[in-house]
Amino acid sequence: MQDFNYLHSNCFEVTFELSCCKYPAAAELPRFWRLNKDAMLSFIEQTHTGVKGFVVDEDGEPIKNAFIKVEGVPHFVKTTELGEFWRLLLPGQYNITALAQGFESPTPTTVTVPSNQTEAVPLKLVVRRRAVGRVKLQNIEVPEVVISEEKPEQNQHRRDVPNLPAADFTHHDYLKMESFLKDLAALYPKITKLSSIGKSVEGRELYVLEVTRDPGRHIPGKPEFKYVANMHGNEVIGRELLLLLAKYLCQEYTSGNERIQKMLNNTRIHLMPSMNPDGYEKSTVGDYKSTHGRENAHNVDLNRNFPDQFGETPDNQVAEPETRAVMNWSLSIPFVLSANLHGGSLVANYPYDGNPAMHSGDEYLAPDHDVFLHLAHTYSDTHMKMHLGQPCRSYPERFPEGITNGAKWYVLAGGMQDWNYLHTNDMEITLELGCFKFPPASDLPTYWADNREALLAYIEEVHKGVHGFVHSHIGGNLANATVSVSGIRHTVRTARDGDYWRLLVPGRYNVTASKHGYESVTEEVVVPESGSVSVNFTLMPDDPQHWSSAYDFRVLDNIMHTRYHSTLELYAELAELENKFPAIAEFRSGDSLLTASLHQLKMTDKVGSPEETKLHMAIISNLYASHAVGQEMLLNFARHIATAYSLGEPRHKSLLENAVLHFIPNLDPLYEKILHGFSGEQCQLSPLEEEFGDSLYHYITKTNLSPLTNYTREKAFVDLLKAEKYDIMLDLSSGTEDVAYPDLSRRLFEQFAQKYQDNRTPMDKYECRSTPSNHGNLLDVLCERYNTPVVSLGLSCCKMPSESDIAYVWKSNLRGIMKFVELANTGIQGYIKSEDGGPVRDATVVVNGFSRPYRASRNAAHYRASLPPGEYQAVVSAKGYVDQALTWRIIEGEVKQRDIILHRTNTEIPGGTYDDKDLYNDPNTVYISGLALDHNSVPLNTAKLLVYPLGTKKLVDPVATNASDANGRFVVSLPVTYMGREVLMTAEKDGYISRQRHVMINKNENMTPKVLFKLESDDKVLGMSRLVFVMVAGVVGVALVTLAAWCFSCRRTGDPRRDYMFTQLASDEKRPFTDDGKYEIVSKPYYDVEELPPSETDSEEEIVLLRNDRDWKPVENLID
Ligand SMILES: [Zn+2]
Repeated sequence: MQDFNYLHSNCFEVTFELSCCKYPAAAELPRFWRLNKDAMLSFIEQTHTGVKGFVVDEDGEPIKNAFIKVEGVPHFVKTTELGEFWRLLLPGQYNITALAQGFESPTPTTVTVPSNQTEAVPLKLVVRRRAVGRVKLQNIEVPEVVISEEKPEQNQHRRDVPNLPAADFTHHDYLKMESFLKDLAALYPKITKLSSIGKSVEGRELYVLEVTRDPGRHIPGKPEFKYVANMHGNEVIGRELLLLLAKYLCQEYTSGNERIQKMLNNTRIHLMPSMNPDGYEKSTVGDYKSTHGRENAHNVDLNRNFPDQFGETPDNQVAEPETRAVMNWSLSIPFVLSANLHGGSLVANYPYDGNPAMHSGDEYLAPDHDVFLHLAHTYSDTHMKMHLGQPCRSYPERFPEGITNGAKWYVLAGGMQDWNYLHTNDMEITLELGCFKFPPASDLPTYWADNREALLAYIEEVHKGVHGFVHSHIGGNLANATVSVSGIRHTVRTARDGDYWRLLVPGRYNVTASKHGYESVTEEVVVPESGSVSVNFTLMPDDPQHWSSAYDFRVLDNIMHTRYHSTLELYAELAELENKFPAIAEFRSGDSLLTASLHQLKMTDKVGSPEETKLHMAIISNLYASHAVGQEMLLNFARHIATAYSLGEPRHKSLLENAVLHFIPNLDPLYEKILHGFSGEQCQLSPLEEEFGDSLYHYITKTNLSPLTNYTREKAFVDLLKAEKYDIMLDLSSGTEDVAYPDLSRRLFEQFAQKYQDNRTPMDKYECRSTPSNHGNLLDVLCERYNTPVVSLGLSCCKMPSESDIAYVWKSNLRGIMKFVELANTGIQGYIKSEDGGPVRDATVVVNGFSRPYRASRNAAHYRASLPPGEYQAVVSAKGYVDQALTWRIIEGEVKQRDIILHRTNTEIPGGTYDDKDLYNDPNTVYISGLALDHNSVPLNTAKLLVYPLGTKKLVDPVATNASDANGRFVVSLPVTYMGREVLMTAEKDGYISRQRHVMINKNENMTPKVLFKLESDDKVLGMSRLVFVMVAGVVGVALVTLAAWCFSCRRTGDPRRDYMFTQLASDEKRPFTDDGKYEIVSKPYYDVEELPPSETDSEEEIVLLRNDRDWKPVENLID
């Protein structure tokens, strides 16, 4: 009953269970009355909380059945016959408005509901009749009976219902539809044009009706809009609505409706009532949810038949005639906005429909998510019912606010909306117009009334955002120029007349117009709240010298006579930089073992002076020989930095004061061979031999090892990583314009990558193809094994552009590379000291949310963290010291100085007491704390702890991460929403076998303490097989027994387990941990046995609580 009340009436109901005993003795009743009386009275008083009031029109007439909308709450109450409403709300501030059919909603009123409320806040909402309603409507063309779903006594609102003839509210099969369209086109020749964009499988025409002033051609500056319906043959509402809309637009235009006149004068509207006329002929009226008639005559689902961003499927290998026709049409006209009209549900569905894993339920958002969200809202909010989010009777899904991401609802490949977004300038959403796929004709007036305003309002969205023209300096129109918006990885191109449209939500943007052969122009553009701004761009032809002076300190070698350098030539160029800039550059070739095979140029302020406090960044190229353009960018960048420094540029000076740049080109010897065979642009270069990146991966992971090589170069590279401990390594690659980074530090590098993308100019010359590579695996393994994060910048989708285009790649990427490298100038650094000022060298700094810890340097205990601007929480820990929690506020372009002083723990952990890290008391966070130990209960430093929501299949995006400190202790913080929930937690450490556990988070307090992970060491890391290991272990075992005997005799001299911090039990239930009986451990499964037994995979030895509570029973097998 309570659910029914909430869903179908204005009433809020809760169900009270008043006693355990269902039918108590009468004598008990007075007691129950006493217990409940006050509660019942105060519950009644709750009717006076929130907001109450009236909805009236401009004349003060009450409006019944208006919806009261509270922003952000997808639940509505309706007004009564007298226009009254009551809306229960908790104390707080709300924006409230009313939605009424035929009326415009007032701008939301902000209402504050006070605490201690005794009377509901009064509120009067005045709605205004819609503009269309005020125009006197006349049926000039076909005067017929007006149809209205409303009862006679409601006729005062009749004038708001558009006058469409009753005869039109019927189903139109192919022949009827054809004659309807032909009649309409004949009747309104000046504002319509009927054409066919192709034929269906069975030879039916694919009709498109244009409705606009001056139909039949694209008029420069006039945006193109399209509605496509009935792609699924048995989903017919859209088909009928588009016919009604066509007639409505023509009638209103002719009868003087100003809004419609403005719309048709300024927009070219294309209506395609049926994309699948063959399927329609097979389907039948009354079909609620079948799939009969859904597909075309080849039994292909057309909304699975488009090319897909994640590759081919059996459904889209061959484009069907209908699909081909729509694709050709969509590409031949510069469409800006469209919608694809379906049925079977009631929701506005926005891209993407697909996701990489093709897994339903995983939201996958387009770069233009803000715009798509706005577009979906525009339709849903304007529709009479969609925004209510009510489920269909045959499906349980509810869509809050009537919108959903496609992949989150259910994933599909080959859909039309994703294709439009990825292959044209057009932005499209998919509208599900009702639960009933083929409703009876008598329902059509209701569908029209529900959708008419939404259909119109959605068309008007085509004018939002930025639009204008791109011209050349002599005034010519530049077709196919790129218009890109900083921060959004999606470009649009200009149409034949240089006109462009870029839909955007209100805000401030950097918009760049570029075209190959011209210098890009960037303008700051403010899209106003009213939605639209016009911006024209004038591009100057490319002048390399001008560009070089403006952006590259006139290093003309970087852009003139560019070519690919051989390995020796490149080394010579880098050595030349040392000669030119001896104060900052040093070329190292074989002066040490490390540089013998991998020569490098080191660049920093005052080269040769101590570098311990600087950020060490390696810039590498040719990790894969085929990514050939990278090394030229490396050389250009080295010249750029050195020249800028010598000219005294403050940005570059401070960069070299803060950082040491190690330029390491030519990793892959295969490059020489590629260069030898180079004969011009080779965008899809794929060498026959194994590239360095791949052999490096195989060398590190010991997989697919080749007997023909001894891996000296790979070994040299690994030794370099181990010795230099770079803070970050930047790989200049090509073949993509994406940025790749290790999964482990995803959250950090995502932001870095964005910075790069925002500052580079997308190149319009090369086609980007997504070719799967195991590049990412290499980055992961380098980060995990050698603690070196490698970020790979894809500089160009062409792996090896023509030699003259090297300059083009450089011009597009210089700013992005520089911004990325400059992140070295943003962050925090300092020394970690003890109270007496001595360095604490083994300290680690863990930043909340990032799994990779920062370590103090070996001599001076200096730490340095490059972090994007923002606020961070960090924990500094070192063995023998009290952990310190810090809050850092990082500011763009600034490296903060913060020394950290650690205090010694008072007790030198005698006998070991395990303190909770009770440093945390943020009420919005819950914490899991515990210990990570190895098999022998020795604390594990820097074990990674990762927390995933339960049910996560692929463990990629942890909700929280942290690492254990020198004492094996860890604290992981989670949003408070996880309180009382169960999560999946993993502990990982190199050389150990990872563990996964379910952890039930405390529901009463925000600390879930004492979660223990014991990790088995991974025998592979010891470098021997299990058999050898067993043999060695046997020998060691004998030695240990001997040692133990010896130790037993002298145990008073000290115990090696002192630091393990186990609490000694005073109870009788103790079991000796070792023979000497000094320490013991008592364990209990993590779960409260009554509440929740561990799942089958939970063996008790891996998660235990360390407690000295008397009632806990020891677990026998823990000690083994
Ligand atoms: Zn459909």
